[in-house]
Amino acid sequence: MNHSPFNNYLVRLKQASNLLKLSANEFKSLSTPNRILEKTIEIKRDNGKKEKLKAYRVQFNNARGPYKGGIRFHPLADLDEVKALALGMAVKCAVVGIPMGGGKGGVQFDPKQYSPKEIEAVSRAWMRAMAEYVGSKKDIPAPDVYTNGQIMAYMLDEYEKITGESDPGMITGKPLSIGGSLGRDTATAQGGVYVLEELVSTLGLKRKDLRVAVQGFGNAGYHIASILHGLGYKIVGLSDSKGGIWSARGLDPEEVSAVKEKHHAITEFYCKGTVCDMERLMREEAKVFSAEDFVTCDCDILIPAALDNAIDGKNAKNIKAKIIMELANDPTAPEADSILAKKKIIVIPDVLANAGGVTVSYFEWVQNITGQRWSEEEVRVKLKPIMLKAFGDVWKISKEKKVTLREAAFTLAVQRISEAMRERGAFL
Ligand code: NAD
Repeated sequence: MNHSPFNNYLVRLKQASNLLKLSANEFKSLSTPNRILEKTIEIKRDNGKKEKLKAYRVQFNNARGPYKGGIRFHPLADLDEVKALALGMAVKCAVVGIPMGGGKGGVQFDPKQYSPKEIEAVSRAWMRAMAEYVGSKKDIPAPDVYTNGQIMAYMLDEYEKITGESDPGMITGKPLSIGGSLGRDTATAQGGVYVLEELVSTLGLKRKDLRVAVQGFGNAGYHIASILHGLGYKIVGLSDSKGGIWSARGLDPEEVSAVKEKHHAITEFYCKGTVCDMERLMREEAKVFSAEDFVTCDCDILIPAALDNAIDGKNAKNIKAKIIMELANDPTAPEADSILAKKKIIVIPDVLANAGGVTVSYFEWVQNITGQRWSEEEVRVKLKPIMLKAFGDVWKISKEKKVTLREAAFTLAVQRISEAMRERGAFL
């Protein structure tokens, strides 16, 4: 079987379409991108040489609203991956019920090998190639892997130079000074917390009895560990790309963050390089894990917040958590899904768990096109009911149809997208 990222999504889309008894033609329409833009862009390197790079934008489905989705700069960003991510965005926006469709973009190159000036040139060249197809009423890009607010600012600037019009709502994830939204940096984690808290209360569990391990300590991972710690959950495990730490007594994410900031590795909390303080490890009932093994640490709630495929067919059987909340995109390989389901582990899927990020991106767009500025508190107050409703809708389908939360989320999304397509007469 073909395990390409796009094929993984198609398998999940097909399951949902079958549950909803969609016709073969309807499934074909839903699984076919509206537009694929594959361009060659050219930049001048600092040494004066010209270089050509592959640039993509896939506009998957806009039946529910303008296309929405990030742009990634990565050596592995190819058409299959960008197509998969664009479909994932259509599903995510439909799950949280925001009026947006799905799109994604990318440039295939390794930004770590390029100077800031060269990265600016790539950003502007991407926009020159795509400007005709994006805009606040057409397609609204955002940051993704290895792109950030600064890159969004260059892209907006290039777009407005081409069109001669001010249109800050054409791109989100911008710096605050040019129309970014307050609360965007914590949005993904905060949205995940609302969903997790709702699950915990639905299951009749108590925060203080729940031990949490978070894989990844970047934007998503650090903020969720910090918010959950503040709410009274015991954070027993934290990890980054160099390894993880676990303590039965619990960890304070702020203390761990201070060590990571200074020494660039979470394991330095207990170790200097490969030499660990055995006495302290014993005293604090603590352990050090390799980055790969961390997901199997002893905890009740595991939050992958780093990479795709962190949980695969090999390590899934050793997972001890009873709940997995996917803050990362695509952290569970399809072959792990059935193993986790057999072990009765509840998985809150990425398209629900991390949708707080795109929801606040949508808030940024709303503020831009209506000329408003919301406070951080207003953003939080507007985010919570959206996440709770999405959880409630997904939970209900999973109970009614006796399917996993992932299958339920895809079913909800397919239901909403296909309804919009039917109303428009857009099915083949
Ligand atoms: P980030 O770059 O800020 O952080 C990534 C973290 O993962 C870093 O701490 C890195 O050290 C760690 N990491 C890398 N390899 C690892 C490994 N093998 N084991 C453990 N940790 C490892 O990225 P982010 O913005 O926090 O995004 C993390 C995930 O969340 C990605 O899958 C991203 O697509 C997803 N996500 C993020 C947002 C957002 O708003 N930031 C929104 C939706 C989804």
